[in-house]
Amino acid sequence: MAAPAYERLLAVQDLDVKLTQLRHRHANHSLRQEIADVDAAIAAIDVVGAEIAERKGALDARHKTLDDEVTVIETRRSEIEAKLYDGSVTGTKDLIALQEESAMLLERQTGTEDDELEIMEQVESVTAELESAAADRGAKVADKERLQAELDTVLVALEAEITDVENQRVDAAADVPAGLLGHYEGLREDFGGIAVARLVGSTCDGCHMSLSAVSLDQVKKLPDDAVVTCDQCGRLLIR
Ligand SMILES: [Zn+2]
Repeated sequence: MAAPAYERLLAVQDLDVKLTQLRHRHANHSLRQEIADVDAAIAAIDVVGAEIAERKGALDARHKTLDDEVTVIETRRSEIEAKLYDGSVTGTKDLIALQEESAMLLERQTGTEDDELEIMEQVESVTAELESAAADRGAKVADKERLQAELDTVLVALEAEITDVENQRVDAAADVPAGLLGHYEGLREDFGGIAVARLVGSTCDGCHMSLSAVSLDQVKKLPDDAVVTCDQCGRLLIR
């Protein structure tokens, strides 16, 4: 016949086991890993994005250099063209020299503009890459927000359940004598959860070992409310 205090202690233990499971689910919910995976994917996109942005920065700088070069050439050419037609230069040789310089500058300008076009094409392609990375990132951020909202809902429900079981545990523990409860709590730490076992026949269902004949004999002689521990594992025994 089981002592009622032990039965109540068993109820406390059931609630403690339930609490451990609920807290474990709270701390290790699979959605947490999914969110961590999405975070890692976002970080990877950011690394690629930074690399693309760096390439674009270099192309933009090159584009500006070529643009400035064209401006310088154009300005120089305008000056020469003006000199050719404003009558300030009259010598045939000088005029020919100016015409030659103008033609040479035009050739340089055309070449530079060709280079500039090529760079602009590359800028276009890199910009498309950046836009694609930004779109990928946006999708991942949306995934994360959805998962986080899902997790928040799950956690709120789990927290409510934990509070409920904690309250049940307070009520159940109030019925257990303080000394026995303290003994149980100490054992629970040692055994990592299960501190109360049932004596089934001569076997402890905590360690599945049989009690020695001597100790079994002693146990039988004890009053119902006496504290009995398994002589094999040390768990509190319910008879
Ligand atoms: Zn045992």
